[in-house]
Amino acid sequence: MEFLDFIFPKTCLSCGKHGNYICLECLAKVRLSKPICPYCEKASIDGITHIKCQKKYGLNGLISVWEYEGVIRKAVLALKYRYATAIGDELVNYLTDKLKELILPNTSHLMPVPIYWYRQNVRGFNQSNLVGGAVAKTLNLKFVPDLLVRRKQTIPQVELSGVARRQNLKGVFVTNPGIEIPDSVLLFDDVFTTGSTLFEATKTLKHARVQKVWGLTIAR
Ligand SMILES: [Zn+2]
Ligand SMILES: [Zn+2]
Repeated sequence: MEFLDFIFPKTCLSCGKHGNYICLECLAKVRLSKPICPYCEKASIDGITHIKCQKKYGLNGLISVWEYEGVIRKAVLALKYRYATAIGDELVNYLTDKLKELILPNTSHLMPVPIYWYRQNVRGFNQSNLVGGAVAKTLNLKFVPDLLVRRKQTIPQVELSGVARRQNLKGVFVTNPGIEIPDSVLLFDDVFTTGSTLFEATKTLKHARVQKVWGLTIAR
């Protein structure tokens, strides 16, 4: 038992059982996400974007591992706090185990979607960099967290409400001139909801002539 475990005993985020933040019983209750097309959200083999749904500057496909429910949902929410790295470690282990069972697209690079792009309450800490880095390592992909950078904004995000904030995202990303543009990128994010951030990042990458861009999220 480590010192911190003594002060803050590890208990399951969902059922409260001692031992781990994600217990195996609770994890077994979380459904696996069925592969869908990222645009129409209807079933699609291995998550490939349907031919009729393809966009010139759009995602080639999407892999989401779990449904956004139960202990996975609790773990993803906990990751938004700065000191949740132990939870991140457990989540990474289960996530990479699952990824080994899935058919993944052939990509050379992995880029996490920086959460501070669209969330203001993160206190400058990017947990998806930690999780994304671990996933890249497992999948043997080159990790490029700084492939996209943020263009200077005319309206500060803090002055805008939710919808306006996402509108304000349009065209705000540019590729980093210091990094060579890869042929293919796996864009990593925690949850796929509306897809707006993934789509926006994909558009920027494809305009920069990245040939293939897939999304990978922990949950949907
Ligand atoms: Zn549990
Ligand atoms: Zn479709």
